[in-house]
Amino acid sequence: MDARSIIEIADRYGAHNYHPLPVVLARGQGVWVEDVEGHRFMDMLSSYSALNQGHLHPRILEAAIAQMGRLTLTSRAFHNDRLGAFLERLCRLSGFDRALPMNTGAEAVETAIKAARKWGYKVKGVPEDQARIIVCTDNFHGRTVTIISFSTEDPYRDGFGPFTPGFTVVPYGDAEALEAAFDENTVAFLVEPIQGEAGIRIPPAGYLRRARELCDRYHALLVLDEIQTGLGRTGRMFCFEHEGIRPDGLTLGKALGGGLYPVSAFLSSDEVMGVFHPGDHGSTFGGNPLAAAVGIAALDVLVDEDLAGRAERMGRRFVEGLEAMSSPHVLEIRGKGLLIGVEIKPESGPARPFCERLMEAGILAKETHHQVIRFAPPLVISEDEVDWALARIAPVLVP
Ligand SMILES: *Cc1c(COP(=O)(O)O)cnc(C)c1O
Repeated sequence: MDARSIIEIADRYGAHNYHPLPVVLARGQGVWVEDVEGHRFMDMLSSYSALNQGHLHPRILEAAIAQMGRLTLTSRAFHNDRLGAFLERLCRLSGFDRALPMNTGAEAVETAIKAARKWGYKVKGVPEDQARIIVCTDNFHGRTVTIISFSTEDPYRDGFGPFTPGFTVVPYGDAEALEAAFDENTVAFLVEPIQGEAGIRIPPAGYLRRARELCDRYHALLVLDEIQTGLGRTGRMFCFEHEGIRPDGLTLGKALGGGLYPVSAFLSSDEVMGVFHPGDHGSTFGGNPLAAAVGIAALDVLVDEDLAGRAERMGRRFVEGLEAMSSPHVLEIRGKGLLIGVEIKPESGPARPFCERLMEAGILAKETHHQVIRFAPPLVISEDEVDWALARIAPVLVP
């Protein structure tokens, strides 16, 4: 079937909650994907950083296939022989005491919110139903009703109320405003170390260190959402390493599933995780043996192939190449590692037509927030592949 008919069927039978580029993909390998008509593209979105290890990484695929032939799902009503090893691997890598496995990013964030609230009541002593969590403008933490309740994006919220109370929104990157927002009922500050969906927005240097100090002073948890920035993407295994701090809680997802299975987790200390007891939180699929086997392989690949180091080196090469183009359309190029945003000048129109032209040139990238093209290829990208991409991006950015 040709691409147009396939798109028509999806449009006819699906909800229109996305606006995809008109390309129908059928195969993938490493940084490359192929559409149904045999055209090859470089994937420079990586499913929003869920494909840090690239498409069909042989080690992750092998681990998944082996596990699929043995045992895939047990629920948490029983133990399975893979979960313990996965949780241990995750805790050792991240330096946290405990991990709670879920499936999607939004579920990991919901878990973080529940943990912070319960910690507030049981440990900090906040009066019942008074817990407050500070969050930032332009945040993106997922799509559940509670999470969109503290979004500042109209389309994420419009028509979906009533909303969950208990959140205070402060401007992202503004340490003074953050300080002013704390009170005795504040249980956590939930923040992305770089805002990916908001257009690759990087807070001022020192912001996370200030946040760390304030959370200590007001006895609140610093919870970082690294679902997009974590697992090597920004040139470190975790983005918080850039500021030399440690959060009290961390959400991971996306690349934790190695590009082939939804795996997410909330990580924290004995003290915080200790608030959970049998029956108060869970997920049918969370922590299943297939997810655990895939998660272990996904982490092994990140470490053994030093994908964080590669992200740093390839990111530098990529940004230098973009800067050397001196494009008249580009207002700013920003990023860390291989999480790179190219902001298009307002007078050059929105980013979408640039992404459409990139697609014609063999590069799949997606606009975020109208004016920004996000370049976030799989971290396995080689120098030659970076150069290949730059050679095709240049004619689009420089007319
Ligand atoms: C993608 C993302 C989420 C949500 O993950 P889903 O798997 O889509 O639910 C949450 N936080 C951040 C920072 C993300 O990038």
